[in-house]
Amino acid sequence: MPFPLRASLCLCLGVASLALVASEKPGVDPVNIDASVKPCEDFYAYANGGWLKGHTLPADKARYGAFEEVSERNRAILKQILEETSAKTTWAKGSVQQKVGDFYAAGMDEAAIDKRGLAPLQPLFAAIDGLNDTKQLPALLARLHTQGLPGGFGFYVGQDAKESTRYMGNLMQGGTGLPDRDYYLKDDARSRDIRAKYESHVARMLQLAGDSPALAAVRAKVILELETRMAAAQWTRVELRNPMKRYNKRTLDQVAAEAPGFDWKGYFQARGVEVKDLNLSQPSYFQAFGKLATETPATQWRTYLRWHALNSSANLLPKSFGEESFAFQGKVLNGTPEREPRAKRIEALTDAILGEALGQLYVKAAFPPESKKRVLDMVENLRVALRERITNLDWMGVATKQQAITKLNAFGVKIGYPDKWKTYAFDVKRDDAFGNVRRASAFRVQENLAKLGKAIDRSEWGMTPPTVNAYYSASMNEIVFPAGILQPPFFDPKADEAVNYGSLGFVIGHEMTHGFDDSGSQFDAQGNLKNWWTEADKQAYESRTDLVVKQYDAYEPIKGEHVNGRLTLGENIADIGGLKIAFSAYRNSLKGKPEPAAIDGFTGPQRFFLGAATVWRNHIREAALSLRLKTDPHSPGRERVNGPLSNLPEFYEAFGCADGQPMKRDAKVRPAIW
Ligand SMILES: [Zn+2]
Repeated sequence: MPFPLRASLCLCLGVASLALVASEKPGVDPVNIDASVKPCEDFYAYANGGWLKGHTLPADKARYGAFEEVSERNRAILKQILEETSAKTTWAKGSVQQKVGDFYAAGMDEAAIDKRGLAPLQPLFAAIDGLNDTKQLPALLARLHTQGLPGGFGFYVGQDAKESTRYMGNLMQGGTGLPDRDYYLKDDARSRDIRAKYESHVARMLQLAGDSPALAAVRAKVILELETRMAAAQWTRVELRNPMKRYNKRTLDQVAAEAPGFDWKGYFQARGVEVKDLNLSQPSYFQAFGKLATETPATQWRTYLRWHALNSSANLLPKSFGEESFAFQGKVLNGTPEREPRAKRIEALTDAILGEALGQLYVKAAFPPESKKRVLDMVENLRVALRERITNLDWMGVATKQQAITKLNAFGVKIGYPDKWKTYAFDVKRDDAFGNVRRASAFRVQENLAKLGKAIDRSEWGMTPPTVNAYYSASMNEIVFPAGILQPPFFDPKADEAVNYGSLGFVIGHEMTHGFDDSGSQFDAQGNLKNWWTEADKQAYESRTDLVVKQYDAYEPIKGEHVNGRLTLGENIADIGGLKIAFSAYRNSLKGKPEPAAIDGFTGPQRFFLGAATVWRNHIREAALSLRLKTDPHSPGRERVNGPLSNLPEFYEAFGCADGQPMKRDAKVRPAIW
């Protein structure tokens, strides 16, 4: 989709969904521990070494860990739902079951998709080929964007960051096919290699679509050159993390004056949107884009736009297109040797397109209502713990503390699934996989644009119910936990409190802390981008977050490739804070009584930290890790365990870590924030 999920700071990039049985022993299973490693040397390896040895990375995965384990269980449930639903053709037209069942059946009908060949794309190609003059570019981009297709930039409607009770349009940079601008601009061996392979991949796709090898090679070069110019104008991911810098409210006249060369009024007219004001998220990008729009000949725009129409439809076209797409996206970028079976790909697509329709069937099958109550209790206990911690902070003044507590008290909480399900007002046909996705994309765009001028919908969710993830939204000031993550090893009704506070408590604390990370802390209790800090407290905060940047910048998961401390700062603050809050909440849960007896030789605090480490255990391919170091605002699994724990006195105490050991960082460089 051209527009991102509503601004959200999520826990991890796991994609998936819920089942209720874990094969392991509830809580901490000693089998997963590697006793040959000392906990104060490398806690990640100690806590997870047994699990890592006992599990291999499946051939069709780039990463396999706790998120994927849970996701695979959820996906088995979805598979059953989809097979049962799609087997029946007598569902009432327009019902949830008809849409979900027919969408899946159409996607699974590979023979029909192969038979239609490129025919479904022809109307789009014809529209693109009609571009004879760059003056027609605004109307053409408007047409493509209206259908949910990419090109040049994106426009979507979201909450006005400084006035969270209203919606506003946002123009966002975009236009490139590689996952980060660095791949176009950097000269290291890996970037050069990926760039060359991308160019060959583009050429092969164009050949599959009918170009001669020579023409395809020329066109691939044109595409790479145009995308490189866009990449050069794009902001870095670190710059994009700054909400104040991203906020540039303009009238349409101002945009026209500031980014000449592209007819912005014509573009919005063609989209049928009346725009009074909008946020020009990256002004310098749009200035460069205006230049590109006039300087690039129409023939090059046609080549570029044909490529993106083709690329974004690859998985709905005959087999050879999907396979070529995987050869680059899966193998080159992520190092994954094999493609997932078709059933899994179509199941994931159904979740992406009809998530709250499929989610209704999933929740009925798999989400026990009593889990909701227990999780809600835990959230409230974490809220109490964070309130106490804020009250006792030694570096923050009373005025800022009051504001922070007001914000914390105002946090909204969503657990499991939406109170109000989204409706999908478009036709789903059993014999038209391509059309189903195109209609869905156009509907999603229309639904988004229709928000302009309306009251904020607070019932919306940014993730589907089977998703193994969670998020904090700064504009909504709410934390959200889909049903998909509320199961072992994140939450186990059969496990002891220590372990559940260490795992799900950590997750909850992480999302809460996002409200107070370097970005979230710039939003107030009403979700407005507005300073509520005294100058002195802001400075004290920043000197602490600088320590976090330094700590994570030093990690080098691949030789020569470091964690980017600025890119991952918000997530690292959330990990460090989340763990502290969860530990305080665990202590509170004892209500002054002594620790319960050790289980398998582990005390409560030890089990808390073992539970926390479990969350981030994973195997990952080196290519995927390298890709994430460039693009993912989260640190890798090992650093998400060892980073926060090595800052925490409660951890040293639990495992008897001494000065000088790697898991006990020196007090002078230790960031203590929340
Ligand atoms: Zn997060």
